[in-house]
Amino acid sequence: MEKKIAWNKYDEETKKEVFSFNEDYKEFLSTCKTERECADFIIDKAEKAGFKDINSMKSFKAGDKVYAINQSRLLILFKIGKEDIAEGMNIIGAHMDAPRLDLKQNPLYEDDASKTVLLKTHYYGGIKKYQWVTMPMAIHGIVCKKNGEDVKVSIGEKDDDPIFGISDLLIHLSKDQMQKTLSEGITGEGLNVFIGSIPKEDESDKEKTSAKQTVLDLLKDKYDIEEEDFVSAELQIVPAGKARDYGIDRSFVAGYAHDDRVCSYTMFRALMDMETPEKTCAAIFADKEEVGSMGATGMRSKFFENVCAKIQKGLNNEVYDSIALRDTLQNSAMLSADVNVGYDPNFPEVTEKYNTAFLGKGAAFAKYTGSRGKGGSSDADPKFIAKLRKILDDADISYQTAELGKVDQGGGGTIAYILAEYGMDVIDCGVAVHSMHSPLELVSKADVYETYRCYKEFYEKYK
Ligand code: MN
Ligand code: MN
Repeated sequence: MEKKIAWNKYDEETKKEVFSFNEDYKEFLSTCKTERECADFIIDKAEKAGFKDINSMKSFKAGDKVYAINQSRLLILFKIGKEDIAEGMNIIGAHMDAPRLDLKQNPLYEDDASKTVLLKTHYYGGIKKYQWVTMPMAIHGIVCKKNGEDVKVSIGEKDDDPIFGISDLLIHLSKDQMQKTLSEGITGEGLNVFIGSIPKEDESDKEKTSAKQTVLDLLKDKYDIEEEDFVSAELQIVPAGKARDYGIDRSFVAGYAHDDRVCSYTMFRALMDMETPEKTCAAIFADKEEVGSMGATGMRSKFFENVCAKIQKGLNNEVYDSIALRDTLQNSAMLSADVNVGYDPNFPEVTEKYNTAFLGKGAAFAKYTGSRGKGGSSDADPKFIAKLRKILDDADISYQTAELGKVDQGGGGTIAYILAEYGMDVIDCGVAVHSMHSPLELVSKADVYETYRCYKEFYEKYK
């Protein structure tokens, strides 16, 4: 059974629509380099479309549009449906966090010998470290000051902004490095980011100069922040620059953090472009997926459940009914919206071609994830999959199977198992990606569009 390439079915008009949808997606990907920036972007657009902060509402009714956010980076959007919520919701959940280099708490130092100024980092998520050197990088994030002020930082994206980066050893002197494995050639503690080198003279002692002082002066001048403020900051080093068309036919989008902003965006658009649904629909934009979904903003926090409790109460004349909440969660259906492995002709040996996803064949469904005998995976119910097949086939949406590589090759997980713990139906469904977790990931524009249609159809039609 072979699935067709989605491009084959498009007439000229649909093809234009595919490309135009991807222009919007590229803007999102280029503008939002951190989970906070994603949340800001989504809330701004949602508020303009009539979504209200859950904390400003007490009762809810069909047609209401609600959002809830925790610590500026775990975001949930709801469209309240016409049906009793205890019959279950249609939920899609993606994650906004992506692999990157986080600044340490005390990051700034001047190297004794070279007198250059660098920033210490601790990488976040699974990265192949050698991919992150000799790359144009930007700094994004937030510095929270003692006086209560939050300073937003974004340097390296505008054409005339400086960029940052990490050096690699010249090939001429790499005899020893080249003998090391790919995981050892660049070390975690070696991922130090260059930030400055012009020395400043010490006013009391002309012999003494400090390039670190120059950097601190600039930070004070431009952002009104002191070195101590790094302690209460969340600053990320991410690939600089915009998402771009890739390929002479412009069939791909290349960019940083398709994983998992491509599912975040397509899910967001699916929810926005839909009229008041039958079932209440929820879009979860989670954080911390790349490091195990822990913490206050990870999917394993109680935030989603707590927000659902508030909605249950608000729909039930302000009476909280714990059984009705449990029914709501148990009876829900969920697409765990995360990217999957796309067959890469440069590395055919790690995938199995009858079951892997291919770029261009549509939304990629993984019945299970995990590793070594499906370890750690929530395996989807075939009855659930059959119902999804019916909806997708009726709407002529391209979809395909996916798996995280050959059996025993490696593997991975998503947030699917966390929601499955409520007893609801869950399956992984997202976009196939090349070069996942690298600074320049690749997706097919056809898959972005088909996944958007798939999510929208699920919200509107799944029962
Ligand atoms: Mn992911
Ligand atoms: Mn990932």
